[in-house]
Amino acid sequence: MNITEELIQRSGNKCELCGASHNLNDLKLPPSLNDTLDTNILVCGTCHDQIENPENMDANHWRCLNDAMWSEHKAVQITAWRMLQRLRNEGWPQDLLDMMYLEDADLRFAEATGEHLSDDEKIIHRDCNGALLETGDSVTMTKDKDLKGAGSFTIKRGTVIRNISLVHDNANQIEGKVNGTSVVILTKYLKKIGADQQG
Ligand SMILES: [Zn+2]
Repeated sequence: MNITEELIQRSGNKCELCGASHNLNDLKLPPSLNDTLDTNILVCGTCHDQIENPENMDANHWRCLNDAMWSEHKAVQITAWRMLQRLRNEGWPQDLLDMMYLEDADLRFAEATGEHLSDDEKIIHRDCNGALLETGDSVTMTKDKDLKGAGSFTIKRGTVIRNISLVHDNANQIEGKVNGTSVVILTKYLKKIGADQQG
């Protein structure tokens, strides 16, 4: 059986969050890389759309979490916890969260998408002009910068760094490759190259 077949069997061919039986799909919970029964759930089209698109949220639909949060399956518990966190300003989701218990490892996994953080706590990377930086962006150096340590060299102003990655626990740092060497650079020395200039 593949994972989808296993999920259909586990759920009785129903959405594991709201119980609907239309438009069912396997959803892999980020940031997991593998399909497992602990990290995948079967969801209907309505739930799936709202999980992926926070701007489409209909808080009342998620009253279903009242039941789903007590599921014996980790993946369902984790999804319920994340959605309750996203909705917690509604009041009743916070009451449910207060009753909910996740094992430590599951809680750490649940927190990986940052739903429990307030907007000003979320780690957001911005360049010297305040433009949002995302994984895969290209940036240019706005000043010469000496890198210390073994094989130290200077990254010249104007150097282009392509395909950056974000340092997840520090909003002021990104990682990239310069002359084949991986370096960590402060975002205040970087200017994002717009899509029209990347060519
Ligand atoms: Zn559903």
